[in-house]
This record gives sequence, structure tokens and C-alpha cells, in this order.
Amino acid sequence: MKKPIVFVLIFCFCFSCKNEVKLEETSKVETSEDTQYQKPEFAIIIHGGAGTILKKNMTPEREAAYKAKLEEAIRVGHNILKNGGSSLDAVEKTINVMEDSPLFNAGKGAVFTNAETNELDASIMDGKTLNAGASAGTTTVKNPINLARAVMEKSEHVMLSGKGAETFAEEQGLQLEKPEYFYTENRFNSLKRIKDREKTKLDHDGKTAFYDPYIKDSKYGTVGCAALDKKGNLAAGTSTGGMTNKRYGRIGDAPIIGSGTYANNATCAISSTGWGEYFIRAQVAHDISAMMEYKNISLEEASKEVIQNKLTNLGGTGGIIGVDKHGNMVMEFNTAGMYRATMNDKGKLNIGIYEK
Ligand code: ASP
Repeated sequence: MKKPIVFVLIFCFCFSCKNEVKLEETSKVETSEDTQYQKPEFAIIIHGGAGTILKKNMTPEREAAYKAKLEEAIRVGHNILKNGGSSLDAVEKTINVMEDSPLFNAGKGAVFTNAETNELDASIMDGKTLNAGASAGTTTVKNPINLARAVMEKSEHVMLSGKGAETFAEEQGLQLEKPEYFYTENRFNSLKRIKDREKTKLDHDGKTAFYDPYIKDSKYGTVGCAALDKKGNLAAGTSTGGMTNKRYGRIGDAPIIGSGTYANNATCAISSTGWGEYFIRAQVAHDISAMMEYKNISLEEASKEVIQNKLTNLGGTGGIIGVDKHGNMVMEFNTAGMYRATMNDKGKLNIGIYEK
């Protein structure tokens, strides 16, 4: 071969190698550490609460019932996303399925307050606009997540509570129920058990803590969903009855934007479940997003740091589910279990209950 031709060939080879490296680097940043990784078109992840969920305490029938309901719920959202629907619709409709099921501590099946009422909290956030809506302490709204969305879209406010929130719900034509609708025997018995233990403790030491260790060890059955749609928009939502035996109009983390729910197209969408007081103090959902944004770390790394270190060191228990802007999904918890499910754009379903 003549010398000039060899030089041209060497030059072309070097140039194409450089471009290849560049592409690889770009795709690493834009997608995932895995070079084989293909960004999914959309993604959805849900939880049905964390806590002391042990296989030894679960009957096969009950386990099957939870799995079936988780699957039913996630399929609703998955269908919406598959057909090009928004992450907000997917989050709302998926949560509706769990709110309508007595298995979870949200909507029908919500836990009881000390006054033997059910007071429900919920929130939703749109990662595209950073708009958010929340409702707290309602007793008659069948699906509090719908109310949270109405607050976000139809009012000038972010959070409404109690009677005012119920008036707004009525004005918006949302379905209302008598307070008795939320009664379930199971949850009522849980309240009775906790009150009995509280009484024993009172008899014993003359005083008692609002949240005694029994509650710390119990289950948090809140429901939540995070989703990424085909347009790249993230959304998250959370709905709950709060914590059994709560008093004095106590509000947990679920309706607090940044604690129970957070979504930002620049980072991720998160829904939390656990001991709300700690999730509020640790600002769990927003902290994960902020760590991703400021430290440029992955959703997985940020979630681990916040749940396994920051929250755990404070004494808080619970977990989160999340999805990032690339469709990577994470479920992180420091309890014995968390009801959870994911479904990717290929329709691959993953359901979990106990520790990883
Ligand atoms: N985080 C909820 C609360 O503290 C409880 C739960 O997750 O079940 O109200």
C-alpha cells in the first residue's frame, strides 16, 4: 500500500474510535451504568406498605390475595402508560384500586384513630410542572388520591384539610361516602389490641407514649405509586389512613410533599411508607431527589443513603419506591417487608412482600 493511503486509513480508524468512545460515554450518562441497558419507554412501581411483614405470620390465602391485588393495581397503570397515557393518570388510577381494597391502609381499610374514626391523607405530584396537591384528615372522601389531584389541578392551593377539604371534594363532584364505609373489622381489632396494650402500659408505669414500641413494630399499609410515561414525565402519589391510634388530628408524611411524595422530571418520582414522623423530619422523598440532583448520584445510591443511613440513624422505619427519569426503578426499605410490585415496558411483572 502507498504511504499516503496508509496515513488516511490510520487517521480514519483513530477518528472513528474516538467517536465510539464519545457515544459510549454519553449513553452512560444518559441511561445507566450498564452499557447493555436500553432506556425503557415507560415504567411503573407500587407499594402497599412496609413493616413487620413476616412469612411465618402469613397464610397462603392472604399472601395470594395481596399478590393478586398488587397485580391488578399495577396492570391498571401499566395499561394507561402502554397506551400513551400520562404518568399522573397511571398513578391516580393504580392507587384507586388499592384504596378500594380492604387489604391496604388507604381508602376502604384505613386504620382507626384513637377516637375510632378513619382520617385519611393523600398527595400527588407532577414531575413535569412540579405542581402538587394534597388532602389531610378527611373522613368522607372515598378516594383521597382523587381529591389530592383535584386540589392540584382545580384549586390554587397545595394542601387542604378536614371539613374544608370535604366541602371542596363535594364541589368537585368527587364520590363521598358515609364515614362507616371505611370500617373494617380487621383494622378495628388492631385498634382494640393497641389500646389494650396501652392500658397495660399505663397500669404499669402510669404514663404512656403516643407511639409505643408496639406501633413501631407494626405494619404500615399505606399505598403509593410512581411512574414514568412515554413523554418522559414522572409522577408519584401516596394515600393512607395514617397510623393506628393516632390522636389530636395527627397528620403523617403521606400528604406532605417532599416527605411522603415527590416527583421531578430532572431526577425521580418517590412514594414513601413508614413511620410518618420520621419521614417528615428526614424529608425522605425530596432528600433522595436532592441527592441525585446535587451530588449527581443514581436513584439507587441516593435511596440507600437516605433509607439505610439517614432514616435508620434517626430511628425511623419504613421504605420507598421510586423511578428515575431513565426508567430505573428502586424499592428500598429497612423493615422486614414491604408489599411492592414493578412492571416494565415489556410487561415484565415483579411482585415482592418480604425482605429482599
Ligand atoms: N406513613 C404513614 C403515616 O405515618 C403510615 C404508613 O406508611 O402506613 O401516616
